[in-house]
Amino acid sequence: MTDNIDATILIVGAGPAGSTAAYFLARAGVDVLLVDQATFPRDKSCGDSISPGAVEILDKMGLTDWANLKGYARNIGYRLSSPNGSVAYIPFPARFSPYPNYLIPRHEFDHALVQHAVSAGARLREGVRLTGFERISADLVQVTGTEGKTPISLTAKLVIAADGSISAFTSRRGMVPGPADGLALRQYYSNVAGEPGLFELHWEKSVLPAYGFIFHMNDGIAVFGTGMFRKDQQRLKANIQERLTTFMTQNPFARDALRKAQAISPVAGHPYRDDAELVKSYADNLMLVGDAAGTGHPMTGEGIGPAMVSAELAARYAVEALQKGDVSESGLAGYGLAFHKQFDSLHKISQLARNALTFPWVVDRTVRRCAKDPVFGAAMAGILAGMVSPGEMLKPGMALRLLAG
Ligand SMILES: Cc1cc2nc3c(=O)[nH]c(=O)nc-3n(C[C@H](O)[C@H](O)[C@H](O)COP(=O)(O)OP(=O)(O)OC[C@H]3O[C@@H](n4cnc5c(N)ncnc54)[C@H](O)[C@@H]3O)c2cc1C
Repeated sequence: MTDNIDATILIVGAGPAGSTAAYFLARAGVDVLLVDQATFPRDKSCGDSISPGAVEILDKMGLTDWANLKGYARNIGYRLSSPNGSVAYIPFPARFSPYPNYLIPRHEFDHALVQHAVSAGARLREGVRLTGFERISADLVQVTGTEGKTPISLTAKLVIAADGSISAFTSRRGMVPGPADGLALRQYYSNVAGEPGLFELHWEKSVLPAYGFIFHMNDGIAVFGTGMFRKDQQRLKANIQERLTTFMTQNPFARDALRKAQAISPVAGHPYRDDAELVKSYADNLMLVGDAAGTGHPMTGEGIGPAMVSAELAARYAVEALQKGDVSESGLAGYGLAFHKQFDSLHKISQLARNALTFPWVVDRTVRRCAKDPVFGAAMAGILAGMVSPGEMLKPGMALRLLAG
């Protein structure tokens, strides 16, 4: 029945999650077809921060030399400000990870990953949008969609859905609790004042409970952005685009940085999903990875590293399932266990931390403490870079430091 299939594994979506899974599968000798509705290089709205966790996977993929050679800006430290005007500068806490935190424009980063997966042996089809999924038999699924205006149908033993936060596969099959719960926006400017590699997070009064960010890349280019969760958006009847403008015009750091700057992109946004602990990450002949599986960090908004981590895991369990000849739900259950072990407790603790940071007095204390306490500051920077769990702040020593003000 499976003699004439289009691929052993079909991956829908060639963002960081899809390309990473494709790379590891191809390296393991699996016949893999990577499909994306876009044609690369393509952009994806993002802050372009490639965390140390993501760089660790890049290293396993043999791509760190590429990033080093290109000379992308590396995180040198954080400037934080709070609603009452407290300000802290925290250097990048290199002691928590041997890997740097790069700023790499997504149209370059995602393109490099796709090309790398193809060099490892994955086949790529661009301009194909896939949304339909039907299980024909134990080891055959049919995936349908369109190529331009032409209907298309592809067959595989196993599908990995890496189609991002508005995933057709997850929402239609009831594998996620609902639509993505967050939305974030960003815009690029040139001629921005600020040092390359400086990461700024400002809990500006006018954008609370969210914060505005400014990430300084090379050559005076910086990305400005903000985000918001759906429940806050509804409660405050907030327009996020207006909030980004408010941040850029009212926050003193943003205003200073933008004094001589020019916009070099439109404002672009994308939903953000961070509810991995509530997601069913596998089903018969189907695995979910990355934003499609809600892997984004609930406190920091970092989604690339977690997407790549889930993709590496999925590739490992997919190979195992193929070797056992069982790609049914029970054959893929190991992935579910590993996935939830990886994400559940981190997500729960990060949600607590995120909720705490919606109280202005908590942010005020946190920033003030960061400014005067290098140990506390380093832990905070480690959390922001995804190298330290927010649970660190709940440990008695850290909590006492925070309460001491
Ligand atoms: C404004 C903003 C700022 C952010 N900043 C950061 C940051 O600085 N650092 C960070 O780590 N994370 C950040 N994130 C989160 C990060 O962008 C995502 O978590 C990350 O892109 C997830 O990768 P992915 O591969 O799962 O999905 P995506 O990158 O969304 O890739 C999904 C791919 O699937 C394709 N696709 C979708 N549907 C279909 C379909 N039906 N058929 C075929 N192809 C399809 C898309 O074209 C796309 O290429 C930010 C998000 C936003 C919105």
